[in-house]
Amino acid sequence: MEEIIETGIAIIGAGPAGSTCALHLAEKGIKCILIDKAIFPRDKICGDAISGNAVYELEKLGASFPGLFTNFEEKIATSGIKFVAPSGKSLYLKMKKIREGFTHAGYVSERIHYDQFLLEQVKKDSLIKVMEGIQIHEVVEASNHIQLKSKDGKLIIKAEMVVGADGAHSAIAKLTGRTDIDKQHYSGGLRQYWENVTGFDEGNPIELHFYKNTLPGYFWIFPMNGNKANVGIGLKSDVISRKKINLKQLLESIIREHPSVSPRFAKAKPLEEPKGFGLPLGSKKIPLSGNRFILLGDAASLIDPFTGEGIGNAMISGRMAANHIDLCLKEKKYDVIFNAQYDQAIYKKLGDELNISQRLQKMLNRPWLFNWIVKKANKNQHLHSFIEDMLDDPNQRKQITKPSFYYKLIFNPKT
Ligand SMILES: Cc1cc2nc3c(=O)[nH]c(=O)nc-3n(C[C@H](O)[C@H](O)[C@H](O)COP(=O)(O)OP(=O)(O)OC[C@H]3O[C@@H](n4cnc5c(N)ncnc54)[C@H](O)[C@@H]3O)c2cc1C
Repeated sequence: MEEIIETGIAIIGAGPAGSTCALHLAEKGIKCILIDKAIFPRDKICGDAISGNAVYELEKLGASFPGLFTNFEEKIATSGIKFVAPSGKSLYLKMKKIREGFTHAGYVSERIHYDQFLLEQVKKDSLIKVMEGIQIHEVVEASNHIQLKSKDGKLIIKAEMVVGADGAHSAIAKLTGRTDIDKQHYSGGLRQYWENVTGFDEGNPIELHFYKNTLPGYFWIFPMNGNKANVGIGLKSDVISRKKINLKQLLESIIREHPSVSPRFAKAKPLEEPKGFGLPLGSKKIPLSGNRFILLGDAASLIDPFTGEGIGNAMISGRMAANHIDLCLKEKKYDVIFNAQYDQAIYKKLGDELNISQRLQKMLNRPWLFNWIVKKANKNQHLHSFIEDMLDDPNQRKQITKPSFYYKLIFNPKT
């Protein structure tokens, strides 16, 4: 016999998007159930970089979070980002904005630990019922609820409102009619944990290496706790298909043969085979909701197309989803028209930023431009500082995509 649970709000997926949404709902006094197919702690293929956006969202989770995160040991602080241009020249950008109560602007934390850290906070809250080891397989719209069925057929959940935070291969997103991956707005990524990689700069910046054969993506080396490193590569899926790129071979060849990379791996040891996962990019507007459901994080394709960061946007969408659900409950409205307000709110908040990142991604098709900016910024302190400010300010980032930026740079570099 199957068990039937009737509930108000069911969140599917307990990654950063789902956990954040549950915590904000609880803060508003709203009960929910949070379901995940995995039993935590669970791994998630990722670069593990916790950007400034994600730290901001940790701050938004409540006054206790800066302290909780400071005491959370499974992380390493990072001072900034080192960009390596196709020319081989690098540009170090310090992340300047440190949030109140935090020690640094950014961190690196293995997702097995970071997601567990968030879920531990969730489990402390009596308004949230966490259900692990349940894979939602069948999703059916009914007149006054959505019915979710587990893969083993033993559990049926009837929810008044469903929150799809179930990642890149979302079962809930299928309700929008989305079935295939749009390769122009999707990337493939590989991650491999290593130990004893050498040559990190002081302050442990994360490193993005834009080599000619990785464009418009990049190879990365991110320092981790315990002399470990997260090493990987990400590239747009349409480029992978068109150029018939074997991502694993490309990753291995960079590690083995690239003159500035391979010496750093001379005494290093891989801790696993490279593992792959998809990145649904936010470079195209898509429906994020329908009757009685909304989508967050990767299920809503909110990954930054230039940097590949998705944790911060997943958490932002989690917070905004909780705000929207609060409205739904107050107005007693869960329909497609009412829920479209959630789509509007998300794209109002993130649309411009995603758009700028897409333009930056397109600029990577002109490697000479990247080389030129890196060369100039290394010589010109004013420009260097201006580009550093772009890390925190999307409006400033917009400047670099405008012809006037280059005009000023050439004819009046101090303005
Ligand atoms: C190779 C790679 C590198 C990346 N590097 C970075 C980085 O350095 N920094 C960064 O910010 N972002 C990075 N990202 C993106 C980041 O990993 C995602 O954007 C982020 O995990 C999205 O969070 P989420 O909560 O939406 O989804 P997820 O973290 O994927 O969580 C979804 C959850 O849903 C559960 N689930 C899935 N299907 C079901 C189902 N049917 N039933 C029940 N549960 C289900 C899963 O078990 C999972 O726990 C990277 C991604 C990849 C692939």
